[in-house]
Amino acid sequence: MAYKLIFLGSPGAGKGTIAQKLAEHLQIPHISTGDIFRSNIKNRTPLGLQVESITSSGALVPDELTIALVQDRLQQHDASTGYILDGFPRTIPQAVALDNLASIDIAINFVVPQEVVIARLSGRLTCSGCGRGYHKIDFPPKTPNVCDICGNALITRKDDTMEAIQYRLTVYEKETAPLIQYYQEKHILANLNSNQNLENVFMELLQTLQQVNK
Ligand code: AMP
Repeated sequence: MAYKLIFLGSPGAGKGTIAQKLAEHLQIPHISTGDIFRSNIKNRTPLGLQVESITSSGALVPDELTIALVQDRLQQHDASTGYILDGFPRTIPQAVALDNLASIDIAINFVVPQEVVIARLSGRLTCSGCGRGYHKIDFPPKTPNVCDICGNALITRKDDTMEAIQYRLTVYEKETAPLIQYYQEKHILANLNSNQNLENVFMELLQTLQQVNK
């Protein structure tokens, strides 16, 4: 089934991990604006150089730039029938722009208490090669510090320092949390308790998707 989905929720709510899993399950692309920025930074592209200091501090990349990037990505062939947008939209102007680009089936809001989010982010490890996410305690790799999938080294993201984490949570409350009401008013919001083990979150998500009329 090809859905057009938005994953909403604070940093560390588990969106990326579940998006990876659901994308494999549904065979639709997982479009993470954060991953796209990180890959541009790694490859030293003009876009990467432009956004590097912004993303390391935990601030948001300007809307215009982010919207253009997503517009371009959604026009690619693999996104013609469905996708998971993870980390986009993150502001009201981005959500309004998306309304003009796509008809979203459902926005899933990953709900988790803030203290859990902080514990998750401060233990997070990210593959320096493919970007896959791990956690030191909750989701460790099979071999310490090595990606299960591509074998590259795992690193702590620059924006997973305590200072950047606090800042990202403040930005989330101010800029992104208003999107919950935005999608509620459009009657396409579904809350998902992501403060439980991965398998349960995934199962509840699949149940929620079954209720979408496709
Ligand atoms: P994420 O991996 O989703 O936590 O994103 C990492 C960083 O990329 C964010 O802290 C922002 O600096 C930037 N970023 C990702 N998505 C967006 C977006 N939709 N709008 C603005 N900045 C974004």
